[in-house]
This record gives sequence, structure tokens and C-alpha cells, in this order.
Amino acid sequence: MMRVKCVICDAINILDDELPLSKKLRNRPIHTYMCSPCYDRISFKTEERLSTGRFKFYRDSPKSAEDYL
Ligand SMILES: [Zn+2]
Repeated sequence: MMRVKCVICDAINILDDELPLSKKLRNRPIHTYMCSPCYDRISFKTEERLSTGRFKFYRDSPKSAEDYL
């Protein structure tokens, strides 16, 4: 088992050594860990930002958007 600290909310979690995430974290600085609520929140925000960006992208420059696809 290993103790990890969420970089966003400082929550301490215990991870099973056999989890792929634990193996990944062991080879990287511990500050890369994010607990699942924070991870979900971040990925949701990222998706939201991406779709907003895409929306603007299509509206402002439809020709460039076609090139991009
Ligand atoms: Zn967290």
C-alpha cells in the first residue's frame, strides 16, 4: 500500500500497490496524484473548455475548421 496526496485538495488516499496508478506514481513525483473527485472535476472542466473552444472556432473561422478536420 502507498499513501498519496491529492495535489488539488490535499486529501490523503491509500492506494493498493498493484494498481496501475500506483506503479505509475512510484516512478513519478508524488505531486502528480489527483483524487477521483478532483480528477472528474478537472476532466469535466477540460471537456467543457474544449467544446466551448471548438464552438468558437467553428463560428469564427469555418474554413480553418474544415482544414483542421
Ligand atoms: Zn482532490
